[in-house]
Amino acid sequence: MSVRVLSCKICGKLFQSFGAGYCPGCADEMDKAFVKIKEYIYDHENATIVDIVEGTGISEKYVLQFLKEGRLSIEGAADVLRCEDCGRPISSGRYCSNCREKLANVLSSAVEGKKKSMPAISTQGKMHGKYGRKN
Ligand SMILES: [Zn+2]
Ligand SMILES: [Zn+2]
Repeated sequence: MSVRVLSCKICGKLFQSFGAGYCPGCADEMDKAFVKIKEYIYDHENATIVDIVEGTGISEKYVLQFLKEGRLSIEGAADVLRCEDCGRPISSGRYCSNCREKLANVLSSAVEGKKKSMPAISTQGKMHGKYGRKN
């Protein structure tokens, strides 16, 4: 596992990351906040972000972070979350389903393209000349 020093997405402090986007302190807070928010949404099905912030006392930063990560999905999120590509309102994550599909296609075709443009490694000729034929 690679360890990188990142600045925490929540408090900005530098910390050694094992893959998380925030420092251990904030990760702890986030976990607690997440449980609270989940409980709140369970009781208030149509809660908006404002409702959640007011109802739980949890920082809007946390709520938005959960939404961006796709950990949380609420109806009211469309008011603040927009697809990073086309700008359509979305309820969780960073892209709308259209753009996610588009991106997935682009990614897979990029991989395909790479495979095709990679020159076929020739083991004939040079190698044989240098090392001789093994069989
Ligand atoms: Zn932090
Ligand atoms: Zn989009």
